[in-house]
Amino acid sequence: MAEQRTFDDRDGWIWFDGKLVPWREANVHVLTHAMHYASSVFEGQRAYNGEIFKLNEHSQRLHKSAQILGFEIPWSVAEISAACKEVLKANKLVDAYMRPVAWRGSEAMGVSAQGTKPHLAIAAWEWGKYFDPKLAEKGIRLDIARYRRPAPYTAPVHSKAAGLYMIATLSRQQAESRGYEDALMFDWRGQVAEATGANAFFVRDGELHTPTPDCFLDGITRRTIMDLARKRGVEVVERDIWPDELESFEQMFLTGSAAEVTFVGSAGPWNFEVGDLSRQLAKDYDDTVNGRIPNA
Ligand code: PMP
Repeated sequence: MAEQRTFDDRDGWIWFDGKLVPWREANVHVLTHAMHYASSVFEGQRAYNGEIFKLNEHSQRLHKSAQILGFEIPWSVAEISAACKEVLKANKLVDAYMRPVAWRGSEAMGVSAQGTKPHLAIAAWEWGKYFDPKLAEKGIRLDIARYRRPAPYTAPVHSKAAGLYMIATLSRQQAESRGYEDALMFDWRGQVAEATGANAFFVRDGELHTPTPDCFLDGITRRTIMDLARKRGVEVVERDIWPDELESFEQMFLTGSAAEVTFVGSAGPWNFEVGDLSRQLAKDYDDTVNGRIPNA
């Protein structure tokens, strides 16, 4: 395999403020507002066999994320979706990860952000599994994050905003340095929240339990899995989950556009098995994203 290049040094095309530019020319200035004040929002989505899964939902969420941070992306949801398709085609990709990102530019400086303009870029590249498939098969190991998901009154928690990933990066780095694959984050109250870039599900007595997303992202994959489970007649319970309950769950998995369905073997001191329902839902998800109808 060819040596992997850095992310600013690749062949291909990136959609940048309305047109496709050569990959290496998709640059911003060091005085970009987003780089200093985290005024940036993004999406992570995957294409399977040339089709971007839940594209409209992702484009809608990007628009909403920017609005929550107080800026309006000057392209409509439909235009963003069309641009995503254009990027996939221009790069001749069929299975890919895609990263739309919108930010406040370098037209002005300062906390107030007055005078800055919104920008939008969309990149796509081949990206395999989010976690090492060999580890994921048995269930990845989660550390317990030192940081907690913030309260809705301390941060714009429903925006997929770059700033909210500061604690996610720190938590994942700590986890990896201690030999784990990822970390489970609790929230400001101490309730179970999610992983650093994926939502969490638990199985007990054939039921699916997942925390209420009142201070973290209500993932598009999360909602897909809840629908798939209900189609199988599985009871899906969305509620407050406290850590002292973790011991009673038999299975755990994560969901996300990048992580897809990832089995969890342990989270801190709590152990889980990779069970039938987790496997079934992983397969149903795989069928769905690949345009197949999950069979009974
Ligand atoms: N939580 C966080 C913090 C994430 O970064 C992601 C990935 N976007 C998710 C949850 C899952 O969201 P989705 O299923 O929409 O990708």
